[in-house]
Amino acid sequence: MTETLEGHCLCGAVTITVQSHANAASVCHCDMCRRWSGAATWCLEAPEDSIAYAGPVKTYSSSKFADRAWCGSCGTHLWIKTAGEGYDLMPGLFDGARDMALDREIYADRAFACAPLAGNHTRVTRAAYEAANPHVEGNR
Ligand SMILES: [Zn+2]
Ligand SMILES: [Zn+2]
Repeated sequence: MTETLEGHCLCGAVTITVQSHANAASVCHCDMCRRWSGAATWCLEAPEDSIAYAGPVKTYSSSKFADRAWCGSCGTHLWIKTAGEGYDLMPGLFDGARDMALDREIYADRAFACAPLAGNHTRVTRAAYEAANPHVEGNR
């Protein structure tokens, strides 16, 4: 966990302050994340009590255990919040996240051919991820 991040959506109506968060980003290629984001969803993990925000946040329950949030004015994606686990914030909201490395890629074997990610980060297949997280229904 590291320094405070200040972020905002495209139109500026939603502002977010994150007191505590991971030091590296992750990415998910599951069906829901691909549909929601256009290809893959980038995430910056943060505990539930570390976020303060203001503005017109809208949410959608994309599964039994997670909500996805966006700005009601401009549509910028903000986070995925998983009950009991905390937030996966969109790293692009925060100028301070720009230098972060990629730590982990999940559903790596489901990535679009146009979105290969280079590097020595951890790659988790759909089968391995769902075996470790039996409540997940990422691919339908
Ligand atoms: Zn906005
Ligand atoms: Zn996903």
